[in-house]
Amino acid sequence: MLKTPDTTLLRTVGEERAALNVIGGRMVGAQSGARIEVACPSDGKVFASVPQSGEVDVDAAVRSARQAFETGPWSRMTAAERGRILSRLSALVEVHADELAALESRDTGKPARQGVADVTAAIRYYEYYGGAADKAHGDQIPFLDGYTAFTSREPHGVVAGIIPWNYPLQILARVAGAALAMGNTLVIKPAEDASLTSLRIADLALEAGCPAGVFNVVTGYGGEAGAALSAHPGVDYVTFTGSTGTGTAIQQAAALNNRGVTMELGGKSPQILFADADLDAALPVVVNAIIQNGGQTCSAGSRLLVEKPIHDEVMAALARSFSALVAEPHHADGDLGPLINARQAERVAAMIEAAEKDGAEIVAQGSVADDAPEGGHYRAPVLFGGVDPLSQLAQEEVFGPVLAAFSFEGEEEAVRLANGTQYGLVAGVWTRDGGRQHRVARRIRAGQVYVNAYGAGGGVELPFGGFGRSGHGREKGFEALYDMSATKTTVFRHI
Ligand code: ADP
Repeated sequence: MLKTPDTTLLRTVGEERAALNVIGGRMVGAQSGARIEVACPSDGKVFASVPQSGEVDVDAAVRSARQAFETGPWSRMTAAERGRILSRLSALVEVHADELAALESRDTGKPARQGVADVTAAIRYYEYYGGAADKAHGDQIPFLDGYTAFTSREPHGVVAGIIPWNYPLQILARVAGAALAMGNTLVIKPAEDASLTSLRIADLALEAGCPAGVFNVVTGYGGEAGAALSAHPGVDYVTFTGSTGTGTAIQQAAALNNRGVTMELGGKSPQILFADADLDAALPVVVNAIIQNGGQTCSAGSRLLVEKPIHDEVMAALARSFSALVAEPHHADGDLGPLINARQAERVAAMIEAAEKDGAEIVAQGSVADDAPEGGHYRAPVLFGGVDPLSQLAQEEVFGPVLAAFSFEGEEEAVRLANGTQYGLVAGVWTRDGGRQHRVARRIRAGQVYVNAYGAGGGVELPFGGFGRSGHGREKGFEALYDMSATKTTVFRHI
């Protein structure tokens, strides 16, 4: 295993921690020497820096991944051996869980317990894919007399993973777990706003026994390092989680190279409350589904459809809950933390203003803690009522703690409204009527439908992905192994 003698990833330089890329098993800066400052969203203070990688650094990482794929010990390993390395990585992430959770929380501003939940999910992803590595096999196909035919699952080769800033630990784990289980090598480009845990995980992957060059991480801006990676001819497959617009740009780059992609994009996911719903069970889930991670979750339950007979009662109860919500610094571990950066906070404020102009009514809003530092990017949660289902607020992703509620009458209208956006990621259906549970769940166009529950975060085993503008391909669960491999058919003639 190639490792520099000093494997300390985050070197302490006074208060500031200078992180390095992981390329070919070595910790290196950007060749230009340029760096990106990392600020904590809770107070806006810089506490670390990461390399501002350019084309040349991305090229070095892709070459290293290519070499590891073509010639390294990785390609000769059995699936069971790859699985064992992933299991060891899972164990190492568990050993370093406190450090990783704290780093993620500081880097993204998410409440401390969400950092813990994310690291717990990451441990489970590496465990799950470690166990799955030697179980994703092909089929023997009955064919012509005198022939034997079978399929096998082959790695794509070099997989590029472009990771967002909202759940870096979890999303890296689901991408890397599935890609490595199938024998691919990886080049990861984390988001410029939250790269630190990805670098740390690559370091732990080396310790777990991943050969040099198998798990590379290059940090940098999306338009620079991200664009260079998605356009690199040495990449065989791209997996992306992030905004729909960026997904389109990455698919265009992929099309020029005729390569496959998995796209996990935005959402405008509905929760449908029928009049017979168990409101004691539903309402806390409805609130959590929009404030978790400050609403910066692709699967956030950002639309609420309430059946007319319970509309006023539900809105009154939600108004009480929203009024009590407080945005606080990550370490206070409150209801929600700050948003990731000033741009995101401004975008959310602009969408709230536009919704009011469109005639939506602010039914209730939470607050920002009095002692929240000035430099943090806080937004109080907002509950909108009487929202026009065709307005921007009901159609477009806010990516903030903003819930758009409106009413409906009967099953037909519920399904029509739930399916009435260009997205289709997740949906929640709340009713005690067993027949309706099945009828409605069946007609909803979304990658995941929950009945009397909601939540894509849990369940590493559950395939996840979108319809329409929410993307295509599936991550998580066993299905992700199919995206991360290509079927090969081999035919023998018995001569
Ligand atoms: P946001 O706009 O909130 O930053 P994005 O969806 O653009 O969200 O970011 C998700 C990831 O995509 C990040 O790692 C980011 O650096 C990367 N990215 C952004 N623009 C591009 C691009 N043009 N090409 C490739 N990657 C990009």
